[in-house]
Amino acid sequence: MQVAYSYHRFSKPKQATKDKLWKQYQEAQKYAKANGLVLDESLSFQDIGVSAYRSANLEVGRLGEFLEAIRAGCIEKGSYLLIESLDRLSRDAPRKALRTLEEICDEGITVVTLIDNQEYTADRLDRDPAAFLISLVIFLRANEESKTKSARSRAAYANKLERAARGEKVIVASKLPAWLKFEGDEIVIDQEKVKSIKLIYNLADLGLRPLSIARALNLQKIPTMRGGRYWRGEAVRLILTKPSTIGVFLSYYRHKAAGSNPEKNFISIKDYYPRVISQRKWKRVQAKIKRSKLKPESCEVIKCRKIRNIFGRIARCPNCGDAMTAYNLGPSLEGLTPHRRYLTCSGATIASGCKRVRVEYAPVEKTFLELGPDMMHNHLAEYVQSKIHNRYNIISAQIKEITRIAGKNELDRGRLNHNLRRLFDRVVINYGSMMLEFEWSCGGRTGLPINESTHISRIGAFIPGQSAGNHIAHQVPPKKP
Ligand SMILES: [Zn+2]
Repeated sequence: MQVAYSYHRFSKPKQATKDKLWKQYQEAQKYAKANGLVLDESLSFQDIGVSAYRSANLEVGRLGEFLEAIRAGCIEKGSYLLIESLDRLSRDAPRKALRTLEEICDEGITVVTLIDNQEYTADRLDRDPAAFLISLVIFLRANEESKTKSARSRAAYANKLERAARGEKVIVASKLPAWLKFEGDEIVIDQEKVKSIKLIYNLADLGLRPLSIARALNLQKIPTMRGGRYWRGEAVRLILTKPSTIGVFLSYYRHKAAGSNPEKNFISIKDYYPRVISQRKWKRVQAKIKRSKLKPESCEVIKCRKIRNIFGRIARCPNCGDAMTAYNLGPSLEGLTPHRRYLTCSGATIASGCKRVRVEYAPVEKTFLELGPDMMHNHLAEYVQSKIHNRYNIISAQIKEITRIAGKNELDRGRLNHNLRRLFDRVVINYGSMMLEFEWSCGGRTGLPINESTHISRIGAFIPGQSAGNHIAHQVPPKKP
């Protein structure tokens, strides 16, 4: 029996109301039933919030994944792709949009537009000039509509910005900094939140760096600006560097003169927001932040941006589930401890309440490179094959790619990380049980024992008054006498 896949696309999440999605889904089901097709639910695609103008849905959305699945041979020839209308596929330049349609058809897939019950196949596009022309006209119209809409909203935004810059009272953006709110047409201060902003600036003025400030705020249980669980160093840094605290609104609009590329016109509007920090204090804090950038925050937080952690974004703390991030610990002043890389709970570094433990990175990576490929192949054989056969080819291809990268002499950590993130939802670095626990995005769990000689230690708190460097390490390699 032939299989049909359905693809819904809405360029704004607001449009994707349940009713609309449900209606489209029902249409797809109706078509499948009437034509004796099986609607495959596991590979139906929704790119909610992705625009088809300039093919954003092709590159980032799930339509891109669909094309990839076709190329990997996971979608059988003779299958159907059900969409509402052709403009759902692409609103890009007609020539590119047509190419997308052709590429899908050339793989032996029939594209069906439910709104007008048209079927597009490679054969029909070749033989029926009318069908070819109709598809071209639909793509032309979709692209033209998008162009006009985007030009119109750009012009309206530029107009508002210029009026505000001339001193007129206009609301340019509907989104406000977290410590401000609308009262009718007025922008007013949220008194409670401004207290935290002032505290942050006072601490920065005393010489505290963003990460230390975040830690202090968490210890005092001061609520975050937008309801997040903890204050993070980056959030504090943004508050300290954005001029909205002194009332300045920064934005830009694109300006295109005839025969040249569009240019960004930057505009800064003074006194657009109510000022919550004095100009003098703001300048002082900026100077301090600039100076502090030259010095590392402490030897522990020299974040290494070049070398990457292969488990970046999927590594999790076994105690609180927060991300485990990698950092480099440079050689000590006396040269006694060598340069090493560690993984630590990102929540613990900002005083979320989790234990501050660091795990040496190298043995964790080595464990995966040595034992990972076998573990993945076993999982593929035992679990994946039995349960989700239609993703078997994709998963198998991903495992092959990871094994290939892991086996190379010169390790491409960025590439490896990219592939691992697709295959696993999370990797728990369980230093308690000395296991690497993998949670597969296709379902199932597997584990690997971490090398016994891994160096694990508890890090002393940064807070004055508490002792530092408290070792809990079992499995520390014995030192030479
Ligand atoms: Zn934790």
